[in-house]
Amino acid sequence: MSENISENTEAPVKNFITEIIDADLASGKREAIATRFPPEPNGYLHIGHAKSICLNFGTTQRYKGTCNLRFDDTNPAKEEQEYVDSIIEDVRWITDNAPFEIFYASDYFQTMHDVAVRLIRNGLAFVCDLNAEEMRIYRGSLNEPGKPSPFRDRSVEENLDLFARMTAGEFADGSHTLRAKIDMAHPNINMRDPVIYRIVNAEHHRQGKKWHVYPMYDFAHPIEDAIENITHSICTLEFEIHRPLYDWVIENSGLVGKPHQYEFARLNLAYTVMSKRKLLQLVKENHVAGWDDPRMPTLSGMRRRGIPAGSIRKFCEKVGVTKYNSLTDIALFEHCIRDDLNKNASRLMAVMDPLKVIITNYPEGQTEWLPAVNNPEDPNAGTREVPFTRELYIERDDFKEEPPKKFFRLFPGNEVRLRYGYVIRCENVVKDNAGNIVALECTYDPETRGGNTPDGRKIKGTLHWVSATECKKLKVRLYDRLFTEENPGAYEGDFLDLLNPNSLVETVCYAEPALAQLPPASTCQFERVGYFFTDPKDSNTDAPVFNRIVTLKDSWAKIDAKN
Ligand code: ATP
Ligand code: MG
Repeated sequence: MSENISENTEAPVKNFITEIIDADLASGKREAIATRFPPEPNGYLHIGHAKSICLNFGTTQRYKGTCNLRFDDTNPAKEEQEYVDSIIEDVRWITDNAPFEIFYASDYFQTMHDVAVRLIRNGLAFVCDLNAEEMRIYRGSLNEPGKPSPFRDRSVEENLDLFARMTAGEFADGSHTLRAKIDMAHPNINMRDPVIYRIVNAEHHRQGKKWHVYPMYDFAHPIEDAIENITHSICTLEFEIHRPLYDWVIENSGLVGKPHQYEFARLNLAYTVMSKRKLLQLVKENHVAGWDDPRMPTLSGMRRRGIPAGSIRKFCEKVGVTKYNSLTDIALFEHCIRDDLNKNASRLMAVMDPLKVIITNYPEGQTEWLPAVNNPEDPNAGTREVPFTRELYIERDDFKEEPPKKFFRLFPGNEVRLRYGYVIRCENVVKDNAGNIVALECTYDPETRGGNTPDGRKIKGTLHWVSATECKKLKVRLYDRLFTEENPGAYEGDFLDLLNPNSLVETVCYAEPALAQLPPASTCQFERVGYFFTDPKDSNTDAPVFNRIVTLKDSWAKIDAKN
């Protein structure tokens, strides 16, 4: 398995879960560690799930235990094979192909049903005919105890008979439920005779029409954990209040497995939403181009955008495992991405907003191929050649006719170095009739091939550039955050009103020829511009489409220094 689930393998980060496990191992309460990642296949995985995956897989890697991928497919209405397939692919990707077994909660339906029958036999469950509204009234509130259902004292025989008929499909959805018989006066509302089975006459993605009753999450989940001999069942904080019921089910199930539930704070990332219901709405209503739209917080979207799995793992590790809900700054995530790409991405040159430069003392029709280093951070990345010609493009904002103080780029009379090219001097500004700058006339110094100055003179500015005649015009997609507000998930109005209209800008760049040769799914840096990825779906071998992964500017270092 990958050594990378926890990037920090030498001194793995401790958290309150590892402390619990250390204590459980030391006391002999546990001999081996088993966890699970239990998604419901009703949507694609997002970065919040990545945190749970990294925690579960990272923990078992550390303790040489096992982590199961278990589909919590107990709700037939919303679940689909497409989601199952995407989840498997995403877990493989984010864990760097860690070994895991795949299980389906629906394969345990018979065992769950057996446990329900056992509860009925033991006088711990009953069939109730109250409808949802009546049940709500009987349940009471935080301040008042609930009232027992009028059906609570049905005999075991009657309950067995009714549950068998529910199972056989004799009744309509919602007409009966099976409820645990616990305590209607319990201070925890989850313990007031919770529903454990409901009637759903629908087709299940794996079980077809076999079942007419489906277990509720709070009943099913502990049984799934017990069947798989999970030791530490890690979930998010909102389930803390369900834990007494989890324990009740385990205690009364008759199953041998004795899992325990632990809760941690979910990941919330600024400027995005994480609710699957909202993500599904974005997809269904075409606000984005599918679950794998590179602006989505989904793992498939991030993969398509070019974000390396390792940087997501690093990010999850940096966020840490806590018991307090918070909103994580996007700058931290981008910092982890840049950190990874900075080491690994090849640097090439492309101009986004071209301004023509004419080298008046360079021969017309001549093309010189100059060597360029692919990645100064990585000596093994090799070199390539870039064409130098009489007409070039530089970025429009790398020139100022009237330069402000400390502007070291190009202005009339000034010299700059063209990266891997020559030193040039701006001699004349060419304007059209309206006074717009259309080109710069420059001269080059033939002694400065490769950008060196044999006479030792200092050149302060270095610009990226491309040949105007040899460059390729390629498609570029500039992505920005999907929402304009920091916490769209908490917005009380319609979250769609907060969509950023400029989250995708489609444009073109003028690229050195090597960029046009990049196969789909290649990562690179456009020098001084940003990190890009050739879209795996829309790129052709000779016509890549570039997704901007992230810009170069890192604001995290500053934020971090302030704290
Ligand atoms: P919903 O959007 O409907 O609340 P969910 O996010 O709970 O769904 P599941 O498929 O049930 O979706 O999640 C699988 C696992 O991932 C659960 O154990 C859940 O606790 C965990 N998980 C989900 N969202 C986050 C998050 N933002 N941060 C950390 N863990 C999460
Ligand atoms: Mg859930």
